[in-house]
Amino acid sequence: MQRIEGVYSMAGRSDVRHATAIVSDVGGIRILAHDNNIELRYSQLSDCQQGDILPGLPVELIFPDGDRFIPNELSVRWSHKGGLLAWLESHLVAVVLAAVLVPLCMWGILVEGVPKAAQISAPYIPQTILDQLGKSSLTTLDYFLDPTKINEDEQAQIHTDWKAAREAAGLGDHYRLLFRSGGSPNAFALPDGTLVVFDSLVRDLTPDELIAVLFHEAGHVDLRHGAQMVVQASVTSVIYGLLIGDLEGLSEVVLSTGISLSQNAFSRTMETSADSFAHEHLSKAGMNPSLLGDALNALPGATRETNNWEEYLSSHPDRDKRIDAAKAHQDNHDEDAAE
Ligand SMILES: [Zn+2]
Repeated sequence: MQRIEGVYSMAGRSDVRHATAIVSDVGGIRILAHDNNIELRYSQLSDCQQGDILPGLPVELIFPDGDRFIPNELSVRWSHKGGLLAWLESHLVAVVLAAVLVPLCMWGILVEGVPKAAQISAPYIPQTILDQLGKSSLTTLDYFLDPTKINEDEQAQIHTDWKAAREAAGLGDHYRLLFRSGGSPNAFALPDGTLVVFDSLVRDLTPDELIAVLFHEAGHVDLRHGAQMVVQASVTSVIYGLLIGDLEGLSEVVLSTGISLSQNAFSRTMETSADSFAHEHLSKAGMNPSLLGDALNALPGATRETNNWEEYLSSHPDRDKRIDAAKAHQDNHDEDAAE
């Protein structure tokens, strides 16, 4: 029990009465008139509000009907045991754990759960949706890209080479090879099977190296990396939307898939598996798996740490690691051939 001296002021009245506030251990508050000890009111602290804490002024207690008790002491604070505050105080460990675990779980879901779920669900996305995604992505990307300057004969030759390699490797004809003029040497795959090659890439690589890059891009298509990225981006925005309480922006996110596809990098795991896909199919086509490594070496900036190729896929594993992987695959290939 606590006794606090002060004044009691009734709502709408200018006069005040000197009074004593008696706060019980269970959170009841009794206001007694100073002169005759008559009970002026009784209330629960939890129903009242604490006034603003202002320097040099006592902190008043405001009753639900607007009556106020103003303590004489500046140091008085109005907290009620038995309410939420008391529960929080007595469950401090739980509160701290929740404060740490909830963000940790969210982080786990976003970083581990969502990609895993996307990977599992990607194969079940209908082709019609992938076609739609590919189409809208290309439309978006074409705002930034120029038409190819490669002449028709050369384009036809690349198409013929690619068809021969693809058939030799046992791959279907569900890809669509397009040429565009962009900045740095680049190639990318869209979820519908569209493979876009930049003029500068054609210029910098030998025809065989170009095929190696096409196998890598075909790997992104067949392993459904684009579809996975779309699911991942959408689910992540739903989660953020739920957290922030704004789901209105969601349709915008889904509609701007073209942009998100071109801005989001495939994960390193995806790149590594697309590399393996390329190595495997180069072998099947009777070509040297190290061609992919050669392609990376042939590009400008090969000695630099940053990977100029597929600039929009910014998180490629280190170029050297990829070249080593190609070499290792080649060694296996040689051993197989020797057997
Ligand atoms: Zn890639």
